[in-house]
Amino acid sequence: MVGSSELLKSPFPDFENGAAAAVKILPEDFDPTAVVPEPLPPLVLSNSGDHADYDDGDEAEEKREIVLGRNVHTTCLAVTEPEANDEVTGDKDAFMASVLARYRKTLVERTKYHLGYPYNLDFDYGALGQLQHFSINNLGDPFIESNYGVHSRQFEVGVLDWFARLWEIEKDDYWGYITNCGTEGNLHGILVGREVFPDGILYASKESHYSVFKAARMYRMECVKVATLVSGEIDCMDFKDKLLANVDKPAIINVNIESLNTAGTTVKGAVDDLDIVIKTLEESGFSHDRFYIHCDGALFGLMMPFVKRAPKVSFKKPIGSVSVSGHKFVGCPMPCGVQITRLEHINVLSRNVEYLASRDATIMGSRNGHAPIFLWYTLNRKGYKGFQKEVQKCLRNAHYLKDRLRDAGISAMLNELSSTVVFERPLDEEFVRRWQLACQGNIAHVVVMPNVTIEKLDVFLNELVEKRSTWYQNEKIQPPCIAAEIGAESCVCKLHKC
Ligand SMILES: *Cc1c(COP(=O)(O)O)cnc(C)c1O
Repeated sequence: MVGSSELLKSPFPDFENGAAAAVKILPEDFDPTAVVPEPLPPLVLSNSGDHADYDDGDEAEEKREIVLGRNVHTTCLAVTEPEANDEVTGDKDAFMASVLARYRKTLVERTKYHLGYPYNLDFDYGALGQLQHFSINNLGDPFIESNYGVHSRQFEVGVLDWFARLWEIEKDDYWGYITNCGTEGNLHGILVGREVFPDGILYASKESHYSVFKAARMYRMECVKVATLVSGEIDCMDFKDKLLANVDKPAIINVNIESLNTAGTTVKGAVDDLDIVIKTLEESGFSHDRFYIHCDGALFGLMMPFVKRAPKVSFKKPIGSVSVSGHKFVGCPMPCGVQITRLEHINVLSRNVEYLASRDATIMGSRNGHAPIFLWYTLNRKGYKGFQKEVQKCLRNAHYLKDRLRDAGISAMLNELSSTVVFERPLDEEFVRRWQLACQGNIAHVVVMPNVTIEKLDVFLNELVEKRSTWYQNEKIQPPCIAAEIGAESCVCKLHKC
């Protein structure tokens, strides 16, 4: 039998003999509001083959060295056991408060110098602060109340109805939910496709987000990668060839409503033309009951409706599901997303769960109940018109950035339907990290979100131009040619400048 002393033993024996417990309380003169200089990470070089390689199995280009971020273990904040007298001295509280104050400062700084990822960091959700004291959880189906009463389904379904209207599907015909992120939407959409067509083949352009290939691996689906054009959009000639080689199996297609890919070959803001994809399927002999289209609209799913000439996402077309991220363009402060599909499909994959008194048709079990309220709040504040204005501002500012880069003799491209500016990768990794640019090979990108103002772009441009003149002062080092990635007409390297 286990003795009582055995039971009382701490699971952290090391902490008890004081070695790891020696928490350094910060020095007296420590100013918690001072900005901590971000130590610059040492570069870690690795072959892409042995990590996070979602896109396995093809092409020599993946042998390229990838710069990984620093190992966080060198800077992590250890969890320390409370001392017996902490409650009396208040030392621990003071210590934690100073850590949080410093962290807050870092967040302010890191937000200020952020350009590379499609997150709208411009929001004011002060009114929702009062809700942080509640454990809001929408576990189960959004439309069927569960036994857990602290939920926000009334907000969730209101938000879903807004998106259903945007994507033109009747209230009685759709099903959907607020996910934890765009990836979960893709996992769900592709799962619905596979449940509808268990022997279907998944087709996705090689510029698709890595979560699409992750889904294929998780579900062990046969996956066919389709080539892309220079613009990054799906090459429908190649798509047709691949469909014709597999006419005996139904097709499940991931269509990129926006692809901002850092795992494929390029980093661009490319849009697949939904109408041409549908036409290609029809021309290849696939009737509407033999294909399922999932639209990955993580970022642009919400920007697209406001861009002239963009192919419209609509359930009036033969599509099966659409997903978007809530923390990108919409600007929700926590990762989340929206997934909408046809109600008829969802019955295939749902199970009733007695324990919940609800239905299980989501990927996750417990679901963030705060996210729907933030989405509801921002949709109410901005409305359709507000988003339209923000999209126009983003596109205008993106043009400004591209033009100013070109004026400065820097190769740059802007996809006509997006606000992602692709340009030559800065030579200096410190600069890349400071501005948090997403890079791939010789190119980098800036995603112009509503919080990216002309002033911010000017600070960036001035700094880039100044630094660049030092990187390339020696004739022997030349800026890279990126014609292969962005097209010769957008490249102004020594060879391509006219
Ligand atoms: C960001 C993104 C995703 C993934 O979304 P997360 O919310 O980061 O999981 C998927 N597809 C596309 C096109 C994206 O841009």
